[in-house]
Amino acid sequence: MSGQERSDSVCLCPVVDVLGGAVPAQSQPPPLCVFGTGDLARTLGQRLFHTGYRVVYGSRRPHSCGPLPHGAQVLSHAAAAQSASVVFVCVHREHYDFLQSLAPQLEGKVLVDVSNNRRKGLYPESNAVYLQRLVPGAYVVKAFNTLSAWALQNGPSDANRQVFLCGDNAEAKQMVAELSSRLGLGVIDRGSLSASRDLEDFPLQLFPKWRLPLGLAAGLTAFFFVYALTVDVIYSATTVKPEDRVQDRSFRIMVSLANKVFPIVSLIMLSLCYLPGVLASAIQLYRGTKYRRFPDWLDRWMLCRKQIGLLALALAFLHVLYTLIIPQRYFVRDKLTQKAVSLIRKNKTEEFDATEAWKTDSYFSVGILGFGLYVVLGITSLPSVSNALSWREFTFVQSKLGSLTLFFCTLHTYLYGWNKFLLPKSYKWKWTPPPYMLCLVIPSAVLLGKLLLLLPCVQRSLTRIRQGWDRSDVGAERGEDKGMGAGRGEEMSDMGVERVEETSSPLIP
Ligand code: NAP
Repeated sequence: MSGQERSDSVCLCPVVDVLGGAVPAQSQPPPLCVFGTGDLARTLGQRLFHTGYRVVYGSRRPHSCGPLPHGAQVLSHAAAAQSASVVFVCVHREHYDFLQSLAPQLEGKVLVDVSNNRRKGLYPESNAVYLQRLVPGAYVVKAFNTLSAWALQNGPSDANRQVFLCGDNAEAKQMVAELSSRLGLGVIDRGSLSASRDLEDFPLQLFPKWRLPLGLAAGLTAFFFVYALTVDVIYSATTVKPEDRVQDRSFRIMVSLANKVFPIVSLIMLSLCYLPGVLASAIQLYRGTKYRRFPDWLDRWMLCRKQIGLLALALAFLHVLYTLIIPQRYFVRDKLTQKAVSLIRKNKTEEFDATEAWKTDSYFSVGILGFGLYVVLGITSLPSVSNALSWREFTFVQSKLGSLTLFFCTLHTYLYGWNKFLLPKSYKWKWTPPPYMLCLVIPSAVLLGKLLLLLPCVQRSLTRIRQGWDRSDVGAERGEDKGMGAGRGEEMSDMGVERVEETSSPLIP
């Protein structure tokens, strides 16, 4: 180290081991360098230091930077770069220019690019590729950008544990991967530096897999809310008579309508988790092969079934909460009191209706069973739980128990309707069914489709197709395709196998 560099150096306190004793110079691990002294630099340095590494910071102002981990050294950029073989560049891309002048000191070193951008497509090339262009003699590895300073500070038990990395030099990647493992972080190698653009876009994503399910939930909720409002509130407002006790029924919007719309949307969304599986099986049966791609819309639909299922579960929770408060409602208490008063006035008693008792008990019991299974489905779709299950256990829960859940929830709704399906007065304006009857269409169709798929002859054909059998004409067509060009053939077989596995289990993460 030159005299100039030594005068730039600041040691925040002597390097100590975990027990507080001074670490002898010869047993100290080679230092790691961190450029920048901001949020990420500070927490990353702290984690590295606690893992046993020596950390040397490179800063524009070594004497006046903010708080840093005790034991870390702060030098000028050039001196810090010279002292280490791995340099973490914890500086925003906009300030990378200074690295060009450090090219000689960074020659042959591993440069870890942790940077992110404010938005996608801000620059023509990724930050890591830009860094590699500025310092061609260094080995740039893109890593750590998907972890936040907060996550690093809180440790792996309380935050995201995954480091995605990419780079063109295998040894450099290996070094960064080992370092990450020592920090207690899992490593996912995403290939060469050209993948860095994807890694940089990753933290900018805003619920990409939730957009379709959320849009679906919002659309269905809006539709059924307007429908229920029309049938329940607007219809009764047009038919109210002067002698009716309750003239204004608009208060039903708050609880009654909510408690109708949420379970309806929940049931439809649950059935929409299972519908693509049925459609995919039907398509395979029709085509007589599994070696052809499903349409894009079906692919997209299948990939967001977990999110659809979780939203359905959330709505089912709301239904449970709304149901629990029913006895507390003023409207319900008033109705019960009025009925009792009316019976007293008429000096009458009501006969116990055993059928009604059976109906209500069955309705509640089936609903509770359905909800219980719903919760099991939700829990097993959590990565921490699903990771502990074998593939067979997972598909059993998501596919078999899932179908049972759909059956119970559909039956719950049928029991709610009981004999009202046949009563003309249930249909407002003679042709408008109540919302719960309307919502039964899709779940019933899905259950029927699943039943048809269980028929032995259908099941046999489907199993053969999934084991790779091709209907002869399709096989010949595939042979021609292969002859004409390998590209399409590869595409078909890869996608086919993957998607077939998925059809049996809707909430695959
Ligand atoms: P920050 O708190 O603003 O720190 C940036 C550091 O860069 C400053 O402390 C400064 O250190 C240095 N710097 C500023 N201007 C400079 C210049 N003109 N020339 C050279 N160095 C300069 O930023 P940060 O939040 O730590 O983020 C740093 C990088 O990590 C960014 O690329 C960011 O995208 C990425 N990142 C951050 C997080 C996070 O949670 N914060 C997460 C993932 C990735 P000196 O004054 O000591 O030179």
